[in-house]
This record gives sequence, structure tokens and C-alpha cells, in this order.
Amino acid sequence: MHKKIISKIKKSLYAIPFQDDIQHTRHKANGGKKQKDILIHNIPFLFTCDETEKLQCLQNHSIIISKGIIQEVIPAKKAVPSSYNLVYEAGMRGGIVVTPGLINAHAHPPMYLMRSAMMLDEGESIDETIAAMPKWERSMTDEDYTFSAIGDITEQQKAGITTTLSHFAVYWPIEMAAQATKHNMINAISVASNTHPENSPALIRDILKKQEAPAQSQLAIALHYVHRANSKILKEIKRLQTEHNLLFTCHMAESEKVAKKCLSLHGKREVEMLGSCGLLTHKTVASHSIYVTDSEIKRLVKSKVGIVHLPTSNAIHKSGTFPLWKFVDAAGNSYVSLGTDGVVSKSRLDLLSEAYQTRITHLYSRTVKFGSLFKMMTTNAARTINMPDRGKILPGMKADLAFWKLKDRGFIPFDQKNPMTLLGNLITHGGRAVRDLMINGEFVVKSRRHAKINESRLLAVLQKKHMAMRRRMRT
Ligand SMILES: [Zn+2]
Repeated sequence: MHKKIISKIKKSLYAIPFQDDIQHTRHKANGGKKQKDILIHNIPFLFTCDETEKLQCLQNHSIIISKGIIQEVIPAKKAVPSSYNLVYEAGMRGGIVVTPGLINAHAHPPMYLMRSAMMLDEGESIDETIAAMPKWERSMTDEDYTFSAIGDITEQQKAGITTTLSHFAVYWPIEMAAQATKHNMINAISVASNTHPENSPALIRDILKKQEAPAQSQLAIALHYVHRANSKILKEIKRLQTEHNLLFTCHMAESEKVAKKCLSLHGKREVEMLGSCGLLTHKTVASHSIYVTDSEIKRLVKSKVGIVHLPTSNAIHKSGTFPLWKFVDAAGNSYVSLGTDGVVSKSRLDLLSEAYQTRITHLYSRTVKFGSLFKMMTTNAARTINMPDRGKILPGMKADLAFWKLKDRGFIPFDQKNPMTLLGNLITHGGRAVRDLMINGEFVVKSRRHAKINESRLLAVLQKKHMAMRRRMRT
């Protein structure tokens, strides 16, 4: 069945290959004379954190990339363009701002087909939304999940995202979508699921057995809500995590109702439940974490549990406000990242608008600095999802890069004497599409077009599938 879906993706979605790189004036092919692969030449403004986590804005620098890895970041005048197989001229026509590819630490890509199925502003609480979702999700086939995830991921990529933690109940559709889009993906599978009650930890062992190496996505374990598991399931998750070095993720304390439910069902709060089974470690990623006590915050920070903040989702579902300042005051800020959630929880699948939402959500107490928001989308997120070789533009890091056009209404005007104002503009006037996007040294978006997926055909397929899903729901 999976082979059938893969051949359908190839037949219906693959983009017509770009004729050659010369027709795109920023990309110049030099004919493969030298061993060094790619030169991103003469970047007017490059934003990254350095080894000490200090935010830097480098001006007029070049990046040398070989085999998908960043080799050097050097002043532009030190690089000789004719020595490289492929040269990307970042200084042309007003120039390009380069940032690390953004990291989305919490998403539900197979839900993309449900866009318009539930209106965001109709005021359902998170508990009502969760109750309505299984009916929609269970009406979808593996093929629907796959195409849906391709829709979701390509939208994320056009917004500068190169890595995503997917939290869902099926493995293969996410793996196939990751292969088709070349996305870095953590494929977290729910072992106690709201929509797939048949799922259990045995499913993870089954996937490990059937996994074809090398997979594009990285398998991980998920729990929809902690209260859906019992200590037997949690202990089995811990065993799987230890045996196979897997990341574990869950929605945690998202609403007051789920926080109370855990206590009434198990006599323990969620943090205590996870702690008693050895699941409070740096290999755990907890999204939302709204209804947590001060002592629980201290425990989460001390255990280096990754936290995903989703302010738009929390506002839309009237869930409450994440206690960001309490995490910051407990010295836990470096483990706070951002996520998009799915299309029933956010208006568009990008992190820049999520960063801005973070800023305005917490403005009543203090201001979240632009540098902190940048870290939440890059280095903090890489730390949260245990991918230390991503999120920075430094030698030895994976070449995941977002290229933003400088001569753009979102950037201009800015203070040339203080280039950090560009970062403020990127976030405040963000939610824009990248001009180009590189994942593991390969261009996935080129000149604003997806280089792997034919988006026009994708949208036609998604529309057809959406209407078929609605027809099934009516019968
Ligand atoms: Zn979620």
C-alpha cells in the first residue's frame, strides 16, 4: 500500500526539475571543477548564535558548504567564487538576509486536510476541539494523511522552517511526506492516542522492526495526554526510550480539565506521573505546560525537559497563558522553544508570527527580546529536540539555511547603523515566505517556488481530498 502512495506522489506531485541553475540569476553553476561544493557568497546580513549562544549579526560574509555540512563562515573577500561547483550570489539585487532554518518543535502535519473543517474563531475550547477531532481524523486514509502532511510541511518550508517535530498517530504517512519534501522530521507516534485508541507501545517495536534504513524521519514516542497512559505504559515508554535512544513527547497541562483529569484518574499530577516513571529528562519534550505549579516548573527546568510554547493555539482554544516568566526566572529559558501546532489551532504554519504572538502575549509583565525569540526558533528548539548540529550557522553544523529577500516591505526601512533592527522587523512584520530554503545542503525552495513538489497540483489534490472527506463525514 505504501508503494502505491509513493508512486502516486511521484506521478502527481513531483515538480518539473529546474532546467538548470543558470536561469536563476543568483545561482551560478561552475561545472564541478573543484572539490568544494557550494559557496553562499557575499551575504549582506547573516544572523546566528555563536558557540557561546551569543546572537551575532555578521555583515558581508560567505558560507562554504560541502556534503550538506557548513565548512566555513568567512569574510566575503576571502572566498574565490570560481573555486566552487555552485555559487549563490547573496549580495545581488538588494541582497539577502540569511538565518538558520527555523525549527518547529510541535506540529500535527496530517491534520492539514482539516483546514476549514473547524473554524478557528468559533470559540471552541481545547476540550471541545479535541472531542470533535477524532471523527474527522478517522475518516482519513493513509493516503490522505500523507498528502495532508505534504501540504503542511511545504507551507512550513516556505515560511523558513527546515525541521519539524511531528506528533501524530501514524508513522508511514509522515515518513513518506518527509521523503517527498526532504524535510528534517521527528516522527513521534502516539502510543496512547485520542484518535487511534488501538495504538500502544507495541506499535513502536513493530515500526522499529519494519523500518527501512535509512529513514528520512527520526522515530520518537508520543502521548496525546499523560492521563491516557498508566504507569505500565509509561514504564514501557521509558524502556523503549532507553533501549533505542528515542525522544518522547506529550501535550502536558494544556487545559485545567486535563490537569485535573490526571489527578482524578491516577492520583498524581502529570509532572509527577512522568517523574515516577523516569520520564523527566532532556529526552522529553512537553508542549503547552500551562497548568504547572512553581515547584513543577523548577523540577522541569532541573530535569532539562524541553518545553514547547504555542501561544496562538493557547489563545484560539482559550486554554490559558503559558507561565513564560516563571520558566525564565527559574533559569529555564534555554529549553523553551516554539511550535505551530496544527491548522485547527493556528492561522498559518509559520514560526515568525508565533514569535510575535509570544512577544505580545507576555507584554503585560515584561518584553520578550527579539534575540530571545530568535533563540526559541533556532538554538533553544535544537536543544529541546536533541539535534545539537542544527539551529546555528557555524562550521560542523548541518547546512539548513533560510534566505530572506532584504528589499522587502517586511524588512525596509531599518537602521543601517543597527542591523539588529532587521531581526525586529523579521519578527514584527514576519509571516513572510522565504526566497530560497536549503535543507542539508540542498535547495528545497528556489526563487519562491518549491523545488521538489508541484504546488499547483498539490493544492488541486488537497481540495479534491478535502471534499471527499466532507462527503464521507456526511454519510
Ligand atoms: Zn498539539
